[in-house]
This record gives sequence, structure tokens and C-alpha cells, in this order.
Amino acid sequence: MSFDAASVAAGLAAVRRRIADAGGDPDRVTVVAVTKGFGPEAPLAALEAGIVHLGENYAQELVAKAAAVGDDPAPVWHFIGGLQSNKVRLLAPHVALWETVDRASLGAEVAKRAPGAAVLAQVNISGEAAKSGCPPEAAAELVATLGDQGLDVRGLMGVAEAGDLDRARAQFGALADLASALDLAELSMGMSADLEAAVAEGATIVRVGTALFGPRPPR
Ligand SMILES: *Cc1c(COP(=O)(O)O)cnc(C)c1O
Repeated sequence: MSFDAASVAAGLAAVRRRIADAGGDPDRVTVVAVTKGFGPEAPLAALEAGIVHLGENYAQELVAKAAAVGDDPAPVWHFIGGLQSNKVRLLAPHVALWETVDRASLGAEVAKRAPGAAVLAQVNISGEAAKSGCPPEAAAELVATLGDQGLDVRGLMGVAEAGDLDRARAQFGALADLASALDLAELSMGMSADLEAAVAEGATIVRVGTALFGPRPPR
């Protein structure tokens, strides 16, 4: 698979239009280009198209792409996948925002390997058993614990149930209410299929893959 910066730039322009149409300010919503499943050409094309925020789900892929991409311009890596404690050390030199911290034990490991790191607490907003994230009712305690561990808790992250945009919007709205109750500024929510619903509920970070790069190759 190959990518060119022009097609990624066109995808970005379309994403920015969708953000604006949903009532968001495209200059204030951070677009994270999710490169999982693609080779290093994807992050390279994103950087050339002016997107510096890059998202990865898998530790090995992130480390390999970070090495291939270099630092001119320097990418801002977001880790957005299910995170095992034993991968934190490998990721620590690269990750700027840990979006999927969903338990205190994981926070402790991040705090050990990357003291003071910026993190989001991941909340399971859909209630689906297969999804990661702490239960909404446990979020306040998790956020307090991560703060006690010396981490810089910037906000909350959630993934809505796929397929039903009204339900997704309600789940995003619940996450926004939780963030505001906890006085947290960042809300990472919304992907290619549901970013309008997320932006309408106040997303500050959207994570988009297929809308920029097209369909992912099968894993
Ligand atoms: C894969 C993934 C995305 C991007 O999904 P698209 O549908 O390609 O936009 C965003 N967030 C998370 C957590 C993901 O795993």
C-alpha cells in the first residue's frame, strides 16, 4: 500500500469540514492520524500533509514507525490501544500522550517509566465487555489516583458503540459530563465513522484512520 501526502491532505480537509459542519472549530480540535495497520509510509504522508499528531494501537508498530519517521518534523505520538504494563517501558521514549490508562496499576507503571507523563483516563462509555476502559463510576477515583502518582491527567478518552450514531452521541455526552464534573479539559472521542457525534458533544481530540488513509489492510 502506498500513500501520498496530497491524498492525506485531501482527507484532512474533508475531516476539518466535517468538524465544522458538526459545530466544532477545526482549529481547536486536534486531529490524530491513526496509522495502525499501515506501514511507515502512512505516518510519513501524514507529516508531509501537516499532521503531527499520530496515533498507534500496538507497541511494536509504534516503535518501528517512530524509528522510520525520525524527528524532522517531530511527530507527537498518542498511544491509543489496549496497553499492557510490560509494554510501557518500550513505549516510554516515544509516547507524548498515553490515551488508554484505565487502571491504577498501569498508571503506576507509566509513572515509573515516564514520570509526570501526560495521560488520559480511558472510560468504557459503551458498557461493552470487549471494550477497555474503567467503568464510568470508577473514573473519579482513577483520575485522583493517577494524579497522586504524579501523572499529568489531561482528560478522558472513550470509544462509543459502533453502528448507532444516536447511541454513540449519548455515550459521548456522558463522557463530556464526566470530564466537566472532574474539571478535565481534554476529551478524546470520535473516529472516522462517528466524529460528528463526538464533536457535537465537545471532543477536543478526534482519532481518525480510514478517513485519512482509506481502508486498513486486514490484520
Ligand atoms: C483504529 C482506531 C481509531 C481509528 O479508527 P478509524 O475508524 O480508522 O478512524 C481510533 N481510535 C481507536 C481507539 C482505534 O483503535
